[in-house]
Amino acid sequence: MPDRHLRADGARVLADLNTLRGFGTYKTGVHKPTFSEPHMRSLTWLAEQLPDAQLAATIDGIGNVLGTSAKPGPKLLAGSHLESQNYAGWLDGPLGVIYALEAARVLNASSSIDGAVEVAAWCDEEGHFGSFLGSRSYVGAVTEAEIDAAHDRNSNSGRMMRDALSNVGLAGRPRLQAERGRHIGYLEAHIEQGETLERDDLKIGVVTSIVGIWQYRISFTGEQNHAGTTRMDIRKDAGVALAKFCVSIDERFPKACGPRTVWTTGRITLDPGAPSIIPGRAEMLFQMRDDDPAVIARLEKLLQSMADEVTARGPCGVAVECIRTGAPAMMDKSFQDAIEGASATFANGKSVRMPSGAGHDAQILATIMPAGMLFVPSIGGISHHWSENTADADLVTGAEVFVEACRRLLAK
Ligand SMILES: [Zn+2]
Repeated sequence: MPDRHLRADGARVLADLNTLRGFGTYKTGVHKPTFSEPHMRSLTWLAEQLPDAQLAATIDGIGNVLGTSAKPGPKLLAGSHLESQNYAGWLDGPLGVIYALEAARVLNASSSIDGAVEVAAWCDEEGHFGSFLGSRSYVGAVTEAEIDAAHDRNSNSGRMMRDALSNVGLAGRPRLQAERGRHIGYLEAHIEQGETLERDDLKIGVVTSIVGIWQYRISFTGEQNHAGTTRMDIRKDAGVALAKFCVSIDERFPKACGPRTVWTTGRITLDPGAPSIIPGRAEMLFQMRDDDPAVIARLEKLLQSMADEVTARGPCGVAVECIRTGAPAMMDKSFQDAIEGASATFANGKSVRMPSGAGHDAQILATIMPAGMLFVPSIGGISHHWSENTADADLVTGAEVFVEACRRLLAK
C-alpha cells in the first residue's frame, strides 16, 4: 500500500465533479455544447484549479486546456474533455479531467515522486464542430483549412467554428502541439457507457483497445412509380429491398462476426419518401465496430456478396460504398499492467481487460505516444443521456485507482 498521502481525496473529487455539473445543468445532467457559455466556464474553472496542482495553465487557440509542469523528471499526460453532447450526462468527459487534476494535485507536490502529471482537457471530443478537433490539433493533425471549414453540426445555426472561436475570445491564439518525447504517455479515465462492469460487479475496466469504426453507404435502386396503379408483382420497390437487406444482415452476420463486433443501421432514407409513391431509391448508413480489422474485412466481404446476390436476383440493384474506415487504437501493455496493479491495491482486484466500443481522445494520443484508459461503471450502462450516472463509491474508487496508476507509471 503506497504512502497514504499519495492517495486520491475522494470528497474533493466528488466536489469538483459536482462543481462542473453546476455549469449548464440540465435535469441531473448537463447541456454543455462546445464553446457554449457553460463549456467556456468549465474551461476557465479548470485553468484556475491547475496552479493548485503546480501546473501552469493555458487555454489554446482551439479551446484545449493544458497544464504544464516545471518539475524535473518524467511527465505523464492525463485528461479527457469538458463539453457534453446536447442535453446529456455529467460524467462523460469531466470524470477523466477531474481524475487527472486529482492525480496532479496528489503527485506533483510530493518530493517522493520523480516527475509530474500534466493535465489536458481536449476540446470538442463530442464532435459538435468536427472529429476530435482538440486532441488531433495537439498531435498536429488539424490544418487551418479544416478549422476554416468547420461549423456547428449539432445545431440549426450552422455557426462557423471561426466565429465561435472569436466569440469566446480564442481567435488568434496559438494552438499548442505536443513536444515529441516530452511525455512517457497519456492516461485517460472515462465512464464505461456500457453495462459490462456493472453486470459482473466489477469496478475498473482496463481498456485493451479502442475499436475502429467502419461506415458504409448502401444504396438500392428500383423504379419510382404510382402507389395505387402499379401491380404488386411488377414493382421495383427500393424501400422493400432495403428493409429485407437489413433483416438479412442480422440473420447472417452473427455467423461471421467476432465476439464483440457491433453493427448499426443508423439512418434510412427513401426517395422520394412520399406516401403515394413507390420509392425508386433507398439508402442506408451502416456502421460496424471491432478491434480486429480481419473481422471487419470478413464482414465487409459478406456484405458485398449479399449485395451481389440481391442484385442478381432482382428486382432492385444494391451498391455498397465504404465511406469511413478506422483502424483500432491499441492501448499500451505497460499502461494496462499499471491500471491492473492499481486495481489490485484499491479495487480488490475487481477489474477486467476489455476493448472500448466508443471512441475517445486516447485513440488520437495513441498515434504519438503510449496510451492507456480505465473505465468506471455506468449505472444501467446509460450514457449520452441526462440520467447518466455512477455510484459515488465507484467514482471514489476510480479516482484512487487512477492516482495510483499514475504513480506507478511515473515510477517505472
Ligand atoms: Zn467522452
